[in-house]
Amino acid sequence: MAATISIHSSVDTGLKPAAAGFKGATLACKCKQNPVEVSIKGQCAHNHVCGCTKCWKPAGALFSQVAVVAKDNLKVTANGDKLQIVDPAATIQRYACKGCGVHMYGRIENKKHPFHGLDFIHTELSREPGFAPPEFAAFVSSIIESGCDPAQMGGVRSRLKELKLEPYDALSPPLMDAIATHVAKASGKLKS
Ligand SMILES: [Zn+2]
Ligand SMILES: [Zn+2]
Repeated sequence: MAATISIHSSVDTGLKPAAAGFKGATLACKCKQNPVEVSIKGQCAHNHVCGCTKCWKPAGALFSQVAVVAKDNLKVTANGDKLQIVDPAATIQRYACKGCGVHMYGRIENKKHPFHGLDFIHTELSREPGFAPPEFAAFVSSIIESGCDPAQMGGVRSRLKELKLEPYDALSPPLMDAIATHVAKASGKLKS
């Protein structure tokens, strides 16, 4: 039964619409004391569920939920001393709380990267509702790498479609096109 598959607690009961005129919110980690707080100005973009093995997932979730914001709109406002980079060699430097393990944000330092200037956030950490809901499912096949039985993939993809989260095994076509355009402009195959 497709309906019994849990994708992520934020989407399992249906997508919640973005709040009109949303001005931003505070993300907090799961520590009971001295939580790390990150303030986000404005709405997020490109929210999606992601099946890759690098994005932080809450316990029991098959997918993470991840969106981007302009890095100038993100500010660590409390207990930033608890943050550490998960893997300094990774393209995205993911800042996790040393206390609870939650990833608070991810940043790309390589200025040539197509997504440089954008920070990755997990909107379910928000204390206030209103962030735009996920729009698609990325890197769906990768959940097998985290131990999902390949025989379940048909059910997972049907459930994603039912939730209006079109499943892709990379990013969505508009984002893949944006990356390819960036690469082509950098190599001179496309004129800016
Ligand atoms: Zn924490
Ligand atoms: Zn991911």
